[in-house]
Order: sequence, then C-alpha cells, then structure tokens
Amino acid sequence: MAVYDGVIIGAGHNGLTLAAYLSRAGLKVAVLERNAEIGGGTSTQEPTLPGYRFNLHSNFFMGFGLAPLMHDLELHRFGYSYIEPLVQQAAAFRDGSCVVIHQDVDATCASLTRFSKRDAQTFRELHHLYAVKMRPLLTSLLYNAPLPIDQLRDRLSGPEAKEFLSHAEHDLFSVVRKYFDDDRIRTLFTSYMHVITTENQPGAGMVFPAIFSNVMSFTLPVGGAVALPLALARVVEAGGGTVITDAEVREICTKDSRATGVRLANGELIEGHHFIASAIDAPATMQMTGEELFPEDVRDKLEGWHWGNHSLVTLHLALRERPIYKSRAFDPDIDRAFNIFFGMDDIEQVEQCFEHCEAKKFPDVLMGNGACNSHVEPSYAPAGGHSAFWWPFAPYAVDGDSENWDRHKAEYAQRVLDVWREYAENLDDDNVRARFLFTPLDVERLNVNMRHGAVRMGAYIPSQLGINRPHPLLSGTRTPVEALYLCGSSTGNGGGINGAPGYIAANAIVDDLGLDRPWKPVPPPEWRD
Ligand SMILES: Cc1cc2nc3c(=O)[nH]c(=O)nc-3n(C[C@H](O)[C@H](O)[C@H](O)COP(=O)(O)OP(=O)(O)OC[C@H]3O[C@@H](n4cnc5c(N)ncnc54)[C@H](O)[C@@H]3O)c2cc1C
Repeated sequence: MAVYDGVIIGAGHNGLTLAAYLSRAGLKVAVLERNAEIGGGTSTQEPTLPGYRFNLHSNFFMGFGLAPLMHDLELHRFGYSYIEPLVQQAAAFRDGSCVVIHQDVDATCASLTRFSKRDAQTFRELHHLYAVKMRPLLTSLLYNAPLPIDQLRDRLSGPEAKEFLSHAEHDLFSVVRKYFDDDRIRTLFTSYMHVITTENQPGAGMVFPAIFSNVMSFTLPVGGAVALPLALARVVEAGGGTVITDAEVREICTKDSRATGVRLANGELIEGHHFIASAIDAPATMQMTGEELFPEDVRDKLEGWHWGNHSLVTLHLALRERPIYKSRAFDPDIDRAFNIFFGMDDIEQVEQCFEHCEAKKFPDVLMGNGACNSHVEPSYAPAGGHSAFWWPFAPYAVDGDSENWDRHKAEYAQRVLDVWREYAENLDDDNVRARFLFTPLDVERLNVNMRHGAVRMGAYIPSQLGINRPHPLLSGTRTPVEALYLCGSSTGNGGGINGAPGYIAANAIVDDLGLDRPWKPVPPPEWRD
C-alpha cells in the first residue's frame, strides 16, 4: 500500500493547484487522475488534422494574469506563459455592425460611442469601479471561502459597496438593462454574462461585478490550455509529489468518520496520512465516501444537484485562412479581436436561446462566442493553416435525448457552420480542411466530472452560488468528514480557470495541519468607502 501525506482525486487544474501549493508547504502528495492525460477541463488535442491544436474545454483564461498562482507558484519558471491580446472581444451583428472591446479603455469607449455615448460613459465608470478600484476586493472574494451575506454586509460598507451588494437582488439581464440603454450593447453584455454559463435567475446578478471586471483581461495560454496543468504538475514533482494517470478512484476510505485513503478501480489502496481532497464534483465525492457520513440536508441538496440548463456545442475547424468577419467593413479592429460573439441580434434572441436550452431544444437562435487561437498564438496551427472554433450554447439532452448528439452529429455540425458562415464569408468548403464537432455528450464522456455537459460542475443559480456551493457546511472546502476536503468547481467560488477552490483548500489544509505557509495569503474581503 502506497502512503502519502495527502491524496488528491482528479488532476484538473484545481486538484493540481492544491497539490502544487501543498508541495510548496513541504507535504508529499499524490494526485490521482482517471484519464490517461492530466488537465480535465484544461485539455488541448488535435482532433482534426496533425498540428491543428484545439482547447476542447476552457480557452479563455479570464483575468488569470492576476491569479495568485502565477507568482506564488512561479508558473512562468515551470513553463506556463500566456498572451493577453490587445483587442479582447467583439460582438458582430447580421447587419454588419460590431462592437469591439480593447484592452485600452479609450479605444473601447470609441467603439461603444458609435452606438451610445451614454453607454460608453457608463462603461468607463463601471470599468474603473470594478476592474480597477474594486479589483482587490474581487480578488479577495474569489480566493477566500465564501461568507454568509450578513457577514459580507458587515465587511463591506459605503455607497459603492451597497451598489455592489444590490446586484444580488436581481437577475443578470436586469443588471445589464439597468446600466446600458442601447440594444446592441445590451445584447453584447447579456451574451457576455453567459460566458460563465450563469442561469439568468433572480439573485444571479451577484456575479455581474466579477464577470464585468474581466471583460478586458482575457488571456490565451501559449501552447494550449494543457500548458497550465503541465506546469502545475512540474511544481508538484519538483516538491517531491506524484501525479498518477489511469488511476480511477472508486471509494474514499474512512475510519471512525475520518478519511484515511482511497481505493482505485483496480483494487489498489492508497493512504493519505493527513488528508484526502476531492477535486471532482461534490455529489460524486459524497457517494464515494458514503452518504451516511453527511447530514440529511447535505444529502438532499447534493442528490438534487442542478447541473445546468445549457452546455456548449463546439465546432472546431482546421482552416487554410483565418475567418474574416464581414463586420471588418464597419470596424477593422474586429480582425484582431480574440473572443468573438455572434448569432444574436437583440436581447430577446438571447433570452430565446436560453429558453430553448431549458426546454431541451436545439436553439432556433444559435449564439455564442469563439476564437481563432492561431491568429493570436501561431503554435495553435501548422504553418499555412489556422485553427478556429465557435461554441454556441446548447442543451445536454438535445431534443429530449443526449444520444441525439451522436445520431445527428453531421446535421448539427452543418447547422452550426451555416450560422458561422453568415458572419465569416470565407469559411467555404475550400477553406475548411477538416471539422470536428465536440458536443455536450462528448464533454461528459471526456470528463466524467462534467456531468450532463456541465461546464462549471453545477449550475450557477443562487442556491448553488457563494456560501450555498455546494452547501453552507461544505463551501469552505472542509466537509463533515474529518480530513476530507473538497477542492473542485462545485464548491466555494465555483468553476472557471482560476484555481480558486484549490487555493482555498490549500489554505484550509495548511491551517488545519499547523504548517508554515510559504506564500502570502490573499487578504479576506473588506471595503469601506
Ligand atoms: C466546452 C467548455 C468550455 C469551457 N470554456 C471555459 C473557458 O473558456 N474559460 C474558463 O474559465 N472555463 C471554461 N470552462 C470551464 C472549465 O473548463 C472548468 O471550470 C474547469 O476546467 C474545472 O476545473 P476543475 O479542476 O475544477 O475540474 P476538472 O478540470 O473537471 O478536473 C477534474 C478531474 O478529475 C478527474 N476525475 C473525475 N473522476 C475521477 C475519479 N473517480 N478518479 C480520478 N480522477 C477523476 C477528471 O478526469 C478530471 O481530469 C469550459 C468548460 C467546457 C466544458
């Protein structure tokens, strides 16, 4: 039987973040991954033709340049680097117009002014408030365990904090409508708010400041999303830890209500002397441990876990030349934009798309965002070629049954490409060398942690956000089972590439074991104005 200081289940970026921090704190850890490759939702593959590299899951690492991981773990020294494109986002419309968001605020406001001078001014003020002034607060909120709302109210005071907290009373669309007047700009921001696949319910407005703060700080990993887990694994190994692939955990072993080890699918037992941490979803973790060890209300909550109404269906294209958007006649800067939205022309269509997803229907209005990574970072495609993708929102059980994705794959791929061609007229058969449709069913197949194609390991709805993720007793990454921690996206501050659940669990474990912390922790949230 192998024995480590701690065992971590799942080598996605969160499990590896925890492992990397604890290696720095001097623990010998093992990370166990069921797949043959590490990375989970940070995967890069060549599913079309050799040399055309595609990030099958996460592509846009939002605000990652500011993540504490970057400097605490010296990720650049372990091979991780990224590009933060100067032109960040664009939304193209069927009439040929487009809105372009740059890293530069003046350039962004110039684009917005073509639609509404007032909205451009609002954007400038919101950008200053959330991306500059309140940035440290947002970082504190992301990298500390969530607090109950009354404790948060005690810590945040003044008019700006009041406004900040007031978003929690609204749905996201209402917040966007409150700030912006112009229909195109509202359409851009309501679409943009869905990049983290939030469900538009009352209360979901609480995520507005965090998403908005990153609209000008999207990054692309050099060499592929997989560069991040590879760098983290090097940190783990440099600290004497191990990352083991093809190691599926079936059971979390306990003794006297304390987690002591894990049993693999091949029967092997691996002991974690000080802790076991699960970077996979909370419901699966509870089942592996034994439901009887969790209080009844936790069991009820996790058994009824909401995986989300919409997933993503991605069309990856191996191209001879990059997509050229017809909106370049309106604003040539769209040629340099990293993340491009299209498919929707007004806010009603955005609403309709999500209604169709909820009704498990292939949306009449296909809308979403995508990128041509090789245009930003050439290693994503061979010389003389380009790799591009577009991922419209779509339900998991399409037309009532997830197997329909397999049955009608070619037809769905064609429907996605037809819409894309309305915006990028050069995507003709001669330009498209190969195509690959990655469906919500494929998302689940490649990563069992993304059940029902769940992009964030559980819907972003108020009852599953903040202190409620996954349940107040578990949201701080500790669990009712002694020495068992959660460090995946269905806990704490949720999914997305930021490493926050792994980081929060690392701080909790170091505190619980009384270890020295060789990093300066992100301070707890505080705001007085
Ligand atoms: C199509 C798509 C696009 C996305 N785009 C973005 C984006 O642009 N930006 C962004 O920030 N986020 C994006 N996301 C979300 C992002 O990918 C996830 O939030 C993130 O990868 C979750 O990381 P994690 O470490 O918590 O979990 P995961 O990456 O899911 O890691 C969990 C790991 O555990 C392994 N595992 C599961 N069960 C077991 C077991 N029993 N034993 C051992 N190992 C096990 C899995 O194989 C997996 O490797 C996207 C997701 C999808 C599906």
